[in-house]
Amino acid sequence: RAKEEGRNTYRFFEAKMGAEVRDRRQLEHDLRLAISRDELWLAYQPQLDIRSSKVVGFEALVRWRNPARGEIAPGVFIPIAEEIGAILPIGDWVLTEACREAASWKTPLKVAVNVSAVQLHNPSFAQQLHQTLIETGLPAKRLEIEITETALVRDLNRTLATLRQVKALGVEIAMDDFGTGYSSLSNLRAFPFDRIKIDRSFIKQVHSNQQAATIVRAVLGLGKGLGLPVIAEGVETNEELRFLQEESCDEVQGYLLGRPAAIGSFRQYTHSDTDQPLAETVRKVANG
Ligand code: C2E
Ligand code: MG
Ligand code: MG
Ligand code: MG
Repeated sequence: RAKEEGRNTYRFFEAKMGAEVRDRRQLEHDLRLAISRDELWLAYQPQLDIRSSKVVGFEALVRWRNPARGEIAPGVFIPIAEEIGAILPIGDWVLTEACREAASWKTPLKVAVNVSAVQLHNPSFAQQLHQTLIETGLPAKRLEIEITETALVRDLNRTLATLRQVKALGVEIAMDDFGTGYSSLSNLRAFPFDRIKIDRSFIKQVHSNQQAATIVRAVLGLGKGLGLPVIAEGVETNEELRFLQEESCDEVQGYLLGRPAAIGSFRQYTHSDTDQPLAETVRKVANG
């Protein structure tokens, strides 16, 4: 009887595992076809300069909308795309689309694009980036690429060579999710970063957790010492914004100032700079 039960349980798991493998295969298949099926799009989230209160750029965040699956978050599909090699065409698509979009703006705002480790290990990455800038007509100084620390650990020398080429093009480089990876401090010195993005996990705790506040202050001090502007990601409340203003953070980004959305909803910023409702939010908090 026990034996019988054991066998049934085993069969159950086997069937379940088979289904999981099939689901995953199907997901990979759909992901490979996402570009040709026109299922990817870019959401944009504003980045503001704290002192001037103005929008200075947008971060492009990829979205996958599949008719059967609905909208899938990049946190789910980017790691899979990296595993199956689909990140190269997807990364190319994102860069081209973001550069084309930014080149069409009437205002010279910057666009920040996330680049994964796999893309950086492609020896022709910088060459392709150069080509994309030429084709889209976007001046290099208006593009920034965001790289997480985990992207740096795999093949240091190759990544460093690529980043130096990127930098030589005039494209800026930001260290994303700062504080969550390994050996942050030596990376800051070894790689040609232009900007530090403090991870959201520290920002959301500045008022509940003394250590998080201390870490944010330390990163701001580090940025100042190294001459690197610091941007805080994931700012959700007035209190967090005020803390960052008081501590002389340079730039902010987060739901408080705008959720990632289709670029059309930011036309006021991309097509004229006369009126900036978001700047008002920042000023109000600064003035109490
Ligand atoms: P990230 O680059 O650190 O992007 C910030 C993430 O935080 C975004 O999630 C954004 O929507 C979210 N966020 C922004 N402000 C707030 C806030 O105030 N509160 C909260 N709770 N969240 C906020 P998203 O769009 O889901 O992207 C997740 C991650 O996926 C990104 O983290 C990035 O690492 C990766 N990713 C997104 N687009 C791309 C892409 O085009 N290429 C690559 N390689 N990775 C991408
Ligand atoms: Mg990012
Ligand atoms: Mg980030
Ligand atoms: Mg993050």
